[in-house]
Amino acid sequence: MKYVHVVEPGKKFKLNKISSEAPKGVVREEAEASFVALASELGEIQEELYAAGKHSVLIILQGMDTSGKDGAIRNVLREVSPQGLRVESFKVPTEEELAHDFLWRVHRHAPRKGMLTVFNRSHYEDVLVVRVHKLVGKKSWSRRYDQINEFEELLSENGTIILKFFLHISKQEQEQRLLAREQDMAKAWKLSAGDWQEREHWDDYAEAYEDALLNCSTDAAPWHVVPADQKWFRNLAMTEAIVDRLQNYRKDWKKTLQRMSQERLAELAAFREQASQPSAV
Ligand code: ADP
Repeated sequence: MKYVHVVEPGKKFKLNKISSEAPKGVVREEAEASFVALASELGEIQEELYAAGKHSVLIILQGMDTSGKDGAIRNVLREVSPQGLRVESFKVPTEEELAHDFLWRVHRHAPRKGMLTVFNRSHYEDVLVVRVHKLVGKKSWSRRYDQINEFEELLSENGTIILKFFLHISKQEQEQRLLAREQDMAKAWKLSAGDWQEREHWDDYAEAYEDALLNCSTDAAPWHVVPADQKWFRNLAMTEAIVDRLQNYRKDWKKTLQRMSQERLAELAAFREQASQPSAV
């Protein structure tokens, strides 16, 4: 069962026509149980990815403020071994980063073979916040869609499996989350007046997201819209989409692991054989 909306390449859509809520009929307790099983399966899959070392996985996470990017990373990847996982967060670029092309700071964090890397925000900020706040002209940012597609194609052709998720919350849900932070001293550190300011640009962001997702959803690197108003559903939907995609590679990875096991056992047998021979004097 698919719980995410996969953006079809080139097919126009409106974010406000896609529900940000869990579909009716999905029961929370059942969803949580399914999520636990899938998260554990993802842990097993990642071990195979790591050991086989044939591919890498890149998960790109985007969403409005408070959409739950940090929580999604914490939950969805809870069974993944930290050894095989990197999380890279992209903030306002430094002076040095700005003095390069926009992909420069991103490319160096692309995962090496065997690794699973999450981009918490990404090169997509360069067609989102940059567009909304007019940090560069339209001529520059509009060229970036093609540049992004070519960059992702390069990664994909070199063995990186790319999954892109937009955590979709409603404007009302964002307001509730921001207000809730004010009521909870344990969470008030997350508050920022800037979040309320950014909220005023909601429609501009929605438009920028629609264009980015539409122009950059490709067969190799599709965009998934995750209904994220309920965190328990977001966890299930995202994990299911990741497991579903990576499932296709398991046979290949398992075959490699089997071959590696046979080689190791043969090496060990040869070593024992040699060790049991009386040494020549
Ligand atoms: P987060 O909201 O991801 O938890 P922060 O509150 O530190 O983390 O926000 C990071 C900020 O950096 C966001 O406002 C984001 O829009 C901004 N940012 C990221 N990449 C760029 C970029 N390329 N240009 C301008 N701003 C950027």
